Amino acid sequence: MKQQILIIGAGFGGLWSALSAARLLDQHDRNDVEITVLAPQAELRIRPRFYEPNVHTMKAPLNDLFDAVGIKFVQGSAERIDEKNKQVGYVKASGEQGQLSYDRLVLAAGSHLMRPPVEGMLEYAFDVDTIESAAELEAHINALKDQPASAARNTVVVAGGGFTGIETATEMPARLRAVLGENADVRVIIVDRGTQVAGALGDGIRPSIVEASEHLGIEWIVGATVASVDAGGVTLADGQRIEAGTVIWTVGFRASPLTEQVQGTRDHQGRLHVDPNLKVRGHADIYATGDTAYAATDDLGNFAAMSCQHAIALGRYAGNNVAADLLGVDPMVYSQPKYVTCLDLGAWGAVFTEGWDRQVKLVKQEAKELKQQINSVWIYPPAADRAAALAAADPLIPVA
Ligand SMILES: Cc1cc2nc3c(=O)[nH]c(=O)nc-3n(C[C@H](O)[C@H](O)[C@H](O)COP(=O)(O)OP(=O)(O)OC[C@H]3O[C@@H](n4cnc5c(N)ncnc54)[C@H](O)[C@@H]3O)c2cc1C
Repeated sequence: MKQQILIIGAGFGGLWSALSAARLLDQHDRNDVEITVLAPQAELRIRPRFYEPNVHTMKAPLNDLFDAVGIKFVQGSAERIDEKNKQVGYVKASGEQGQLSYDRLVLAAGSHLMRPPVEGMLEYAFDVDTIESAAELEAHINALKDQPASAARNTVVVAGGGFTGIETATEMPARLRAVLGENADVRVIIVDRGTQVAGALGDGIRPSIVEASEHLGIEWIVGATVASVDAGGVTLADGQRIEAGTVIWTVGFRASPLTEQVQGTRDHQGRLHVDPNLKVRGHADIYATGDTAYAATDDLGNFAAMSCQHAIALGRYAGNNVAADLLGVDPMVYSQPKYVTCLDLGAWGAVFTEGWDRQVKLVKQEAKELKQQINSVWIYPPAADRAAALAAADPLIPVA
């Protein structure tokens, strides 16, 4: 009976874990370990693009790649982690229950948008967290032209001025005008709790965000909290009312609820603390990667962000190390000292920064070209070619 590596999730962390584990097994010429990926779909969903139009196309199939590399795919959604018996219970697309055994488990189930108990939010606010929810937003925007013209119809409120909120908001003027007409008088408002525009993102990148917002006519209401959402707009905690036909919630991401089934220390986003080899602290057989892992990127006190650049690298290290663990060879200490940001800013362009203090290196069109390259090439899976895919999974390949 082959030893089993089970990977929960086929996102950036899960995909690269599977490829990297296969790479190490290949290097050691071992055929006695099976790698299984359990996920609802055999596709890499390109979450960083979910604020764009045609969101249903933002995915890449993985079946051929998995076949080429010899990775087994099981379609389903994990529900229970039974650490004592080393089993994962899951539900199939048909609704039937299934069970998979493991010798080593990699938790790569990602994260999701937090939905705090704000009145009306679940009923009336859209989001760009999943392809399905972003497609609902897209259908809603496309249908705005059928509504009677009004200022409210042409107004979008984006709750949250972090990376996701800014990328979503700065895309909105063009998306609204594509539907309502080039000369439509559109209004896009970001509501954020911070005391200054994009304050949480640092002084390096802030001026570019301010400039882009001014150029695009994006309004910011800072120091404000959305108290309730309804069919006609939002009401802020100070009583201010904004009439808006579209409200998009982007505030706060949390690690998959599966992390709660693994005992351990968690950060404020629910991510499991992992050791330098990405094994969950206090566990012999469970690794966490991507958005489920709270991992030190260097020895200077920096930790991985919930981002693709980290999830890809974390995946490669976790996969390598889970296979190394079974083979009895030395693991590789996760290290990713370089940190960059490439923030899309709609028709203004983009801004590219380096370092945790986000020093601006490129702006506008130059940064936009880089962003397009990242979003349409670099983060996509490798071709379904075994040798090329395994070579691409080397943990030492820098992601940024
Ligand atoms: C709108 C938006 C914009 C973003 N922009 C950027 C950006 O510009 N740059 C950047 O670096 N990052 C960006 N991110 C963050 C980035 O997308 C995530 O950090 C990244 O996707 C994390 O990878 P992951 O593999 O951990 O999780 P995911 O990519 O979310 O993959 C999780 C996988 O687990 C599967 N899964 C979930 N639950 C289960 C279960 N119970 N059982 C089995 N499988 C399960 C999912 O189906 C999926 O296959 C953005 C995110 C969003 C939502």
